[in-house]
Amino acid sequence: MAKIIIKDIGKRYANGFEALKGVSAEIAAGSFTVILGPSGAGKSTLLRTINGLETATAGTIQIGEQVVTQNNLREVRSQVGMVFQHFNLVDRLSVMTNVLTGRLSHRSWLGSLLYLFRRTDLDLAHDALIRVGLTDKAWNRADKLSGGQQQRVGIARALAQQPRVILADEPVASLDPVASEEIMGLLREICTRDGITVVVNLHQVELAKRFADRIIGLNDGLVVYDGPASGLDSAT
Ligand code: ADP
Ligand code: ADP
Repeated sequence: MAKIIIKDIGKRYANGFEALKGVSAEIAAGSFTVILGPSGAGKSTLLRTINGLETATAGTIQIGEQVVTQNNLREVRSQVGMVFQHFNLVDRLSVMTNVLTGRLSHRSWLGSLLYLFRRTDLDLAHDALIRVGLTDKAWNRADKLSGGQQQRVGIARALAQQPRVILADEPVASLDPVASEEIMGLLREICTRDGITVVVNLHQVELAKRFADRIIGLNDGLVVYDGPASGLDSAT
């Protein structure tokens, strides 16, 4: 569990495009926050900036007590699990192996070579699969699963990292409505039960209102709403 402090974040891409124009927000430890906005609003840029996948051109990000810098990226990322729109699984590998790759990012390159996967890694991966309800598919090829199941694998891979924070970038944008509900429900449950701080990028207002504690509305690189999901109607 960790709070996230986003302070005056600006991002100008190499081509000069300003995707974020001074974004500030504090995300409480253990909360479930949705960053809501249309395509192009800057949601993905913001999420990638939080774990240092993208370098901000202004401002600071703090996760827990730690300010994210170029020097502590490995440490920061070990605490932050990522979930993606297109799952980012290795199609031809088993579900279990995909989940185990969540453990690899924990170690240095040399550490990975020396230990490969240890007993504890297998236990953590197995626990993560229990958590998302996929133990019966552990040795199936990832690409044989439905979209909703593949996203569960993506979430299990993040959980196997034992993160304090999970960042999900449009995790249901490739899924049908039923699977979308299931995945949002699962992320919500992980937040409540495991006390993990969860931040989800979404473009669907209805889903955001139903699942979020708090909504940060983003448009054109600026925060246009920040408050409880219930307050969104009066604000728009
Ligand atoms: P969202 O996730 O809300 O759809 P993004 O953060 O992906 O928004 O993109 C915000 C804006 O920044 C878009 O206009 C997009 O085209 C632009 N953008 C994203 N990545 C780059 C890049 N590497 N270089 C230039 N512009 C980019
Ligand atoms: P997704 O919707 O899956 O996030 P996008 O089309 O938004 O995919 O972006 C895919 C990749 O292309 C991202 O890495 C993003 O940074 C990059 N990108 C997006 N817009 C631009 C742009 N205008 N110029 C350069 N790169 C971009």
